[in-house]
Amino acid sequence: MNALRRLASLLYGTDPGLRRMLHYWAATCILYVICITLLMLQVELGLSDPGAAHGLVVFGACGAFAFYVLIRANAVFRLAPDQLAVSQAAFSLVCAVWAYTISGPLRAAMLTMAVVVIVFCMFALRPRQTLMLSSAAIVGMGVTMWWLQAHDPVRFPPATEFLTFGYLAGALVSTALLSGEMSKLRARTKRQKAELSDALETIKVLATVDELTSLINRRHMNEVLEGEERRHAPAAEACIALIDIDFFKQVNDQFGHATGDTVLRLFAAAARAALRNNDVLARWGGEEFLLLLPDAPLEDARAVLERMAERVAAMTVPGLDGRRISFSAGLARRRGGEPFADAINRADKALYQAKEAGRDRIVLAGPPASS
Ligand code: GH3
Ligand code: MG
Ligand code: MG
Repeated sequence: MNALRRLASLLYGTDPGLRRMLHYWAATCILYVICITLLMLQVELGLSDPGAAHGLVVFGACGAFAFYVLIRANAVFRLAPDQLAVSQAAFSLVCAVWAYTISGPLRAAMLTMAVVVIVFCMFALRPRQTLMLSSAAIVGMGVTMWWLQAHDPVRFPPATEFLTFGYLAGALVSTALLSGEMSKLRARTKRQKAELSDALETIKVLATVDELTSLINRRHMNEVLEGEERRHAPAAEACIALIDIDFFKQVNDQFGHATGDTVLRLFAAAARAALRNNDVLARWGGEEFLLLLPDAPLEDARAVLERMAERVAAMTVPGLDGRRISFSAGLARRRGGEPFADAINRADKALYQAKEAGRDRIVLAGPPASS
């Protein structure tokens, strides 16, 4: 199994782009094998000249091998994917023309190969390149048919050649035009995919970030807490603080809602600047914030909140006439495997006590009811 995998990566490489190109190449090879088998059958039935048929088989096999080398070692040759595809398509068209000249009464069937090649171009090339190849195929086939009917009118009656050429030209032109439509469709799909992933990104931001303060929102904080509950061993320390701006309603009433919004924005920036790397601050609602301090002993958590209070007190808010902003906080240490919801409840009670005691302070929460 391992040896097989090693052989596959030797033949196919490991780069996904290279593998895709070699898959296309392998698909073309399957078509070659089918055509070669049918050609050999034609020879057996006396419908084709053996010498010419063998010449075409050798030409096709050499070409397929050469393209394998060109694609596999493209790191050295550095050909653009569409350059390679154009050359492969041109080579296949030459094979189709050659097959036409040696297939006697079955020759019209060979023209389906030319159409298949142009259909292949739809997926690999730009419309202009496909149109160019179609034109080259029409001219090449036209010249060949003209030459055949001029030199051997018994085996290649002029009227038959003329009509066959008409059918082929019609099929190639319409396939090439369809390829233009196909390419527009591909461009539209690509654009829609980009728009969709942009929209998804915006939705993700809207779903997790509070627009006013740019802090994470309550919904996302709950996810963070759930993750923290799952991740941590029961003994791991974590603190939770519920923070509420003091007399915020007064700010709104005296200075206007817009100034209130500015206070919230500046408060968030000042509070964030006081955090340690792992701390997470969320807007919990209105002028209330939840702070998670993972792996923090109570003293460290308290120090963070005190630093935060200093920064908030030092804020200058435009339009607030020098009024100082303060907050009250309830701080709880999560005990053992206590659910965060319970620790938040305790922090909330401590916050209430902080407000009752005159605000602008940090109150430690009592232990959980069970301990
Ligand atoms: P306390 O010191 O007891 O916390 O009093 P407070 O005035 O801060 O608290 P209260 O709950 O009475 O008022 C909070 C106010 O916050 C009421 C609400 O209109 C205001 N608020 C909530 N969200 C926003 C917001 O996004 N922008 C603004 N400007 N105000 C908000
Ligand atoms: Mg308040
Ligand atoms: Mg409040």
